[in-house]
Amino acid sequence: MKIICIGRNYADHAKEMNAPLPDVPVFFMKPDTAMLPPGAPFYIPDFTNDLHYECELVIKIKKVGKNIQEQFAADYYDEIGLGIDFTARDLQTKCKEQGLPWEIGKSFDNSAPLGTFIPKERIDLRGFSFTLKKNGELVQTGKAVDMIFTPDQLIAYVSKFITLKTGDLLFTGTPAGVGPVAIGDRLEGYIGEEKLLDLSIK
Ligand code: MG
Repeated sequence: MKIICIGRNYADHAKEMNAPLPDVPVFFMKPDTAMLPPGAPFYIPDFTNDLHYECELVIKIKKVGKNIQEQFAADYYDEIGLGIDFTARDLQTKCKEQGLPWEIGKSFDNSAPLGTFIPKERIDLRGFSFTLKKNGELVQTGKAVDMIFTPDQLIAYVSKFITLKTGDLLFTGTPAGVGPVAIGDRLEGYIGEEKLLDLSIK
């Protein structure tokens, strides 16, 4: 399996990163070794001094698809959850400045912790909101209405270039409010009132 991550899919986050709004989705990938299952602790790697959380809605792909049309995209997933697109912001910034790929800042082992997935029927994909709390304090709120590209549009776009396979994960971008984590922090992610993600930083 592979993890496909969308960048800049919320206007407020693009603004906080001083990045222009994209005309088409921007995506990058993480390998299967980036996945951290629900409940597993996350250990801050020693190669970064500025590790940021980015909480994102995650779509789990349920069947193989290529060149998926937007109107059929919903047939390709049944489950939705939350994940963290951990980012070594110091390394990513250095890569960006040099015009280099970002993998060392984005795709390292365990950089994609996951929460529990729930059936998509339980989520109003046009009206949902998710939140992230850090140590009990609200730090991010993502709303469907603020997404630049919908999950179905993202699936259509990505599958033009890359075949989606069963079990692949699509991270759909993060809203504003990204920030650093330190040892001892706890991240809790909710869709509506339901807690799906609970991550301890070690
Ligand atoms: Mg992200």
